[in-house]
Amino acid sequence: SKKADPILVVDDVRRSFGGLTAVDVGHLEVQRGTITALIGPNGAGKSTLFNLLTGFDRVDKGTWSFQGRTISGKRGHQVARAGMVRTFQLTKALTRLTVLDNMLLGAKGQAGERMAGAFARPLWKRQEKANTERAMELLERFKLIAKRDDMAGSLSGGQRKLLEMARALMTDPDMIMLDEPMAGVNPALVQSLLGHITSLRDEGKTVLFVEHDMDVIMGISDWIVVLAQGQVIAEGRPSDIRSNQQVIDAYLGS
Ligand code: ADP
Ligand code: MG
Repeated sequence: SKKADPILVVDDVRRSFGGLTAVDVGHLEVQRGTITALIGPNGAGKSTLFNLLTGFDRVDKGTWSFQGRTISGKRGHQVARAGMVRTFQLTKALTRLTVLDNMLLGAKGQAGERMAGAFARPLWKRQEKANTERAMELLERFKLIAKRDDMAGSLSGGQRKLLEMARALMTDPDMIMLDEPMAGVNPALVQSLLGHITSLRDEGKTVLFVEHDMDVIMGISDWIVVLAQGQVIAEGRPSDIRSNQQVIDAYLGS
């Protein structure tokens, strides 16, 4: 079996809302180059954990490191710059911007924003050109190129999911975290999304995704982490998880 090579290591991360402990993860690792599924009943804390790890919410305690560097306490754009990006359960596509402009916004936080002085403009121009080229390549890859000048609001739910995934790739991250990328997406687009996820892994990127459909999870995951009431109650290969009574109970109990 493959040697452990964690890209993300999480230690003792907790987050409560009032009296409710939403996340209480003792130790969690995501191995580099894998597709790892984060599963668990509604309210298990999956989205909260994503929010915490990517700097969109603050932990009560805990630390985590990405590629060997501590990133706990960093904000969303700093986490993105470190190479870890995420999408949201409810898509954040800006409906009154074009598809292409949504993509270009995804490049924010890259080099260029800090540039000032006499060279700022030409450098920024060059950066903008590179960003546009990358956006066009990704739109091609995600079959959204014909929609580039349409408002994001005119896209179907599934196309918005594709746009969000494409946008997240603007910064060429090493790891992408997808929160329910398949939710509300028609079956044809689900297949396309699954293809994109496996391609990303095959290119060496690490994928952590939240999903409910067991066939989807079992079909593409290298590793599965089960969260219930904020805690990791089981993890393993798909074949192990499928037959794990605790997992079955956690799902049937929800
Ligand atoms: P999941 O994504 O696994 O369905 P969430 O992370 O969205 O679960 O939620 C975990 C728990 O934390 C739920 O009980 C939810 O109601 C609660 N929660 C999440 N965000 C907040 C918030 N901002 N304020 C209060 N409670 C929250
Ligand atoms: Mg959620």
